[in-house]
Amino acid sequence: MTARARGRRIAAALIIIVTAYVVWLGVNIVRFNPPRAVSPTAARAGGPPYEVVGVYHVHTKFSDGRATPEEITAVAAGRKLDFVILTDHGNPNQRSLGSQGWKEGVLMLAGSELSVSRGHLVALDFATPERPFPQNAELAVQEVAAGGGFSVVAHPYSKTSWTWGEEAGFSGIEIADSDSMVKRNYLRFLPYLPALAFKPVLPLLEALSRPVETLRKWDSLAAQQPVFGYFSSDAHFFYSAVFGCFRLHALLEEPLAQDFERARGQVFGALRRGRFYSAVDGAAPAGGFEFWAEAGGERFPMGSRIRWDGTSTVTLDVRAPFTFDVETRLVRDGEVVERARRAELSYAADKPGVYRVEVYLRRRSPLAADFPWIVSNPIFLKRSWP
Ligand SMILES: [Zn+2]
Ligand SMILES: [Zn+2]
Repeated sequence: MTARARGRRIAAALIIIVTAYVVWLGVNIVRFNPPRAVSPTAARAGGPPYEVVGVYHVHTKFSDGRATPEEITAVAAGRKLDFVILTDHGNPNQRSLGSQGWKEGVLMLAGSELSVSRGHLVALDFATPERPFPQNAELAVQEVAAGGGFSVVAHPYSKTSWTWGEEAGFSGIEIADSDSMVKRNYLRFLPYLPALAFKPVLPLLEALSRPVETLRKWDSLAAQQPVFGYFSSDAHFFYSAVFGCFRLHALLEEPLAQDFERARGQVFGALRRGRFYSAVDGAAPAGGFEFWAEAGGERFPMGSRIRWDGTSTVTLDVRAPFTFDVETRLVRDGEVVERARRAELSYAADKPGVYRVEVYLRRRSPLAADFPWIVSNPIFLKRSWP
């Protein structure tokens, strides 16, 4: 074969490969059609709980993010989010904390991501400290709590194994974060990169893999103390894509206040008490989900601690208005105890334990079938509380 003929063959092969890639990508972009949202307000006939939806763990230019708080607000407003929780690096990050407020109809809140001896710790809702938070992880958790705040262990498995011990006094852990997922699964993310221009959420969804270690760790921690689970955006750029993917749904007793301080207290209050669930809204809008317990004629929402001697009847209930196929799993102490082929379930508890719910999409989706689309917070059913 002459050099010219060889060159023509290589060129032809390249054209075929590029064409095949473009067709493959185009088909995947066109096929990705998340269902439309069902209004949670309509599903609940306007009564409580009042659901607000937002993103947690976001970086701005005040640390290593690419956008200003104003630019981030605009993205959040475009995505119709109710709240954003900025978590710039700092000890704490005063500029980020100073940017809070109601802006463009979005409740812009801020905490700080502290670098401490055991890793990264997100501190939220604390009074401005007189001195920097300590570098020692346990002391930092204590100081945040002493300042009226609460803390969440950030991306516990992003670089190392679990380093946080068993009883550290934190309020929650991040059970999945999109930044670590993309870094870990970049080979699955990269082929979809051009889709950012058309359906920005698609590459992120492709990069999500089941967070086996964090779910297991969360269950073992929650058996000892109330610990809540968070889907974390850990957004530094591609804000529109990230804000469309992981969200927190907080369930409030009253509509979100117009007054900033009250609204801030409502959202942080819901997080502190576990009155929220995490969802991959980019795969399908998850609004309207509810998980509660009924005991002694009373209704207990997610996050509740119930003392139960095992003699009376306690039921655990799930309800949601989804019109597409899902699978609901009730998990007790890390084990699935009940499954349903829809988002409705009622289970008579037969044992004390830590009960939580995972919902999986059973419609065609770029989200891996074993990635929990919704993760509730637990209801803690215990014989006694210390
Ligand atoms: Zn971090
Ligand atoms: Zn971060």
